[in-house]
Amino acid sequence: MSQPKENQYVTQVATNDDYSHSVQVASEVFDLVARYMTPPKPKTYELWYSYASRDNEALREDVEDILRKSGTLSEYDIDQILSEYRDNEKRIVQAQDAIGKHFDKELSNILHMMEASADRSQDYSTSLGEANEVLPGLSDPSKIRDLVQSLILRNREMQVQTEALSENLNRSKDHIQSLRDDLADLRARSLKDPLTQVGNRGYFDATLAHEVSTAKAAGHDLCLVMTDIDHFKRVNDVHGHIIGDWILKDFAAMISSSIKGRDSVARYGGEEFGIVLPMTDLRGAKTLIENIRRQFEAKERVLKTTGKPMEPVTASFGIASLGESDDSLSLLSRADEKLYEAKRGGRNKTVTDELSHSA
Ligand code: GH3
Ligand code: MG
Ligand code: MG
Repeated sequence: MSQPKENQYVTQVATNDDYSHSVQVASEVFDLVARYMTPPKPKTYELWYSYASRDNEALREDVEDILRKSGTLSEYDIDQILSEYRDNEKRIVQAQDAIGKHFDKELSNILHMMEASADRSQDYSTSLGEANEVLPGLSDPSKIRDLVQSLILRNREMQVQTEALSENLNRSKDHIQSLRDDLADLRARSLKDPLTQVGNRGYFDATLAHEVSTAKAAGHDLCLVMTDIDHFKRVNDVHGHIIGDWILKDFAAMISSSIKGRDSVARYGGEEFGIVLPMTDLRGAKTLIENIRRQFEAKERVLKTTGKPMEPVTASFGIASLGESDDSLSLLSRADEKLYEAKRGGRNKTVTDELSHSA
């Protein structure tokens, strides 16, 4: 799936005050991870960052509620809270970008220090060379010895200092690199649904808004498909949640492998997914979606417990094409209407919004 472009998010440039606040928050985050022994994963840092930055009181209260009851946060708790407060995701992404910038600044400060130190070392070496030149003019042996010894000593001191600095620099560089990798990972994860590995709701909202405005500006076609697995509650009730999860993952993977280029799929919530198809008209969208629908229905799933194939699982689809007067909200509500028409019409169907006009 294509990822949202960098410039979809406004990057904040932090001031010095922001910097010391971020450092304070970051150190609190590390303390919290250790104190509550929460899973050392990027999403944990994301949650603790929101908690420690005190910019969302409701989230703090939810976290404290769970801590009071169970003394820690499980991975499930973390997923639940993060998805509930996904509106905060853009702010979290901004915070990550700001932290990344501070790390860059830190690195350049250290490099600067290293350069200054190397310059000093060079100065001492030069003085040593000059002393060697004046040495032949000196006649008092004790003075000669003193001068040479003091110069050599100072030069050694400088070398030791430079080596220590260089070692520290390398350590800091490694540390900063791993933090930056974590941040990049965190950023990608904050847009991904952990179960199905497709985009999450935050990703869907950002992608739809971006693609709708791009299509409108360029006068290109765009279709939005909303899809929902049929009678999924029954699948869970009969076969259990593990089989349910497995089917959800399978459905997402099937959609992902059927789309290409700028197309994208995201989990809208529960067993509902949104598929954005830029530069695609209703006909093209319907052909693609009918292929996915048939493929999903035809999939044979043999149950380990019985050794027999389970009953087919199906999904319903609603497709709307972007019209001149549409925005992402009106497009979404039309695709949603068509999805519910497909449900009312008996499920395992694709309903297209024949009235919508291409932009
Ligand atoms: P319909 O055909 O009208 O869509 O019926 P449905 O049973 O699919 O719809 P309903 O909204 O009644 O039930 C959706 C079910 O999806 C209930 C919920 O437990 C299940 N579900 C939502 N998310 C997950 C998940 O992550 N894993 C599993 N296993 N089930 C989930
Ligand atoms: Mg359903
Ligand atoms: Mg549903």
